[in-house]
Amino acid sequence: MNQFSAEYSPQEIHMWFERMQYHDSTESSIVIAVPSSFVQDQIEQRYARAIEDRLLEISGSPIKLEFHVQRAASSPRAQRSSAQLVREEQQEASASQESSRSAPRLSVTTAVKRPHPSLNQRYTFDNFVIGENNNFAANAALAISKNPGTAYNPCLVYGGVGLGKTHLIQSIGNTVYQDIDNAKIIFVSAEEFTNDFLNALREKQTAQFKNKYRYADVLLIDDIHFLQGKEETQEELFHTFNALYEANKQMVFTCDRPVSELRQLKDRLRNRFERGLNVDLKPPSFETRLAILQKKLEQSNRNIPESVLNLICSNVTTNVRDLEKALTRILAYAELVGKDITEEVARQQLKDIFVTHHQASINIDFIQRAVADYFNLTTNELKSKKRTAAIAFPRQVAMYIARQITELSTTEVGLEFGGRDHTTVMYACQKIENKMKSDSTIEPMVKRLIRDIRESNAKG
Ligand code: ADP
Ligand code: MG
Repeated sequence: MNQFSAEYSPQEIHMWFERMQYHDSTESSIVIAVPSSFVQDQIEQRYARAIEDRLLEISGSPIKLEFHVQRAASSPRAQRSSAQLVREEQQEASASQESSRSAPRLSVTTAVKRPHPSLNQRYTFDNFVIGENNNFAANAALAISKNPGTAYNPCLVYGGVGLGKTHLIQSIGNTVYQDIDNAKIIFVSAEEFTNDFLNALREKQTAQFKNKYRYADVLLIDDIHFLQGKEETQEELFHTFNALYEANKQMVFTCDRPVSELRQLKDRLRNRFERGLNVDLKPPSFETRLAILQKKLEQSNRNIPESVLNLICSNVTTNVRDLEKALTRILAYAELVGKDITEEVARQQLKDIFVTHHQASINIDFIQRAVADYFNLTTNELKSKKRTAAIAFPRQVAMYIARQITELSTTEVGLEFGGRDHTTVMYACQKIENKMKSDSTIEPMVKRLIRDIRESNAKG
């Protein structure tokens, strides 16, 4: 709200803005409590657009303003009759009409080039923060965007939800679009590709479909896990792939897991995806999470206390989208309520986001118990000094799993296993990795344990 004080007269601020109260929010909307439907209508007509524009500027994504009529029981206004209230409000409204100014003008940016229809301009390499979790993937994507069709073809980027797959693949598209005139870029989600194909079949326009995809210079397909079980579409993509591959056209795909784990994908298509470069995106470290938030703040020209940034980064650990959501909400709150953001305010406003992340993070006791159960040991035995094979191997498995699915360092994991040294943990992980290669029963066992641990952890 403080942002608006420069734009509107004090009367308007008093009349309308001071009557809005932050009520609730979701990822894409903010609910404002207002004292009456009349106030709601007035605000909607006069200011909603400007506020939404401002929120878009701050957050980078559209946020809708919604209203909730809330008459405060203790407020003296509420004790007056509604007729009285409306009369008062109308008087105030006409008073403010005289002083109201025209809505603030939108800033106009001159685009270098018309945006590519299917690409979102927001996704650029400039605003992608590179950290230890994504540098391989990001550098591969950069190289591809500079020399499409020659570097790393095809390329498959995989990783969990909200880790930047769509951002990276679209950055490639946006860069090529800016740099190379007339390059034919196609960006689609696997779902759109599927629908496009099914429509073509239905309307007997498969020739057009083939022409469209097989003459692309750069084909970018997001979320190919969606193709699982869709055999005809897989078949079609297989042929598209071959045509483009033969012609040295660049292809980039994203997937939410390694393609080896896509059960319902035809081997020959899987084989094509695996052909070029496969790189993964991992969850960002604390430092990278902080860097991402700082970058966003920088872009929106805003600031929040460092303690609040730390709080968000400590509590939102596994997903950049949620990290952004938390920041957006805090900024919107500050904007609308006009209050300083303290740790307490942040904790209160971000409760639901924090809770989800705490559930998602798996604690080590849980892993120790699951592994001990599986091998019919006690957790004390797992943590003990005993070195018999019957205990040492399960212990190594548990350490390996802990490193895979928690954020604990080798030092921290060592402490949880009877105060062992971090080199012991490193050795254990190495040992399990080697065994997975030499003994084909080990990997499925470890994977199953991880899956069971995740599932029962999710259930709480
Ligand atoms: P995915 O496609 O993997 O589910 P997205 O690409 O949609 O994830 O990313 C989720 C959000 O997080 C997007 O708004 C994206 O811009 C942002 N994001 C992800 N990784 C980064 C990063 N390294 N730097 C800046 N923003 C990021
Ligand atoms: Mg995505």
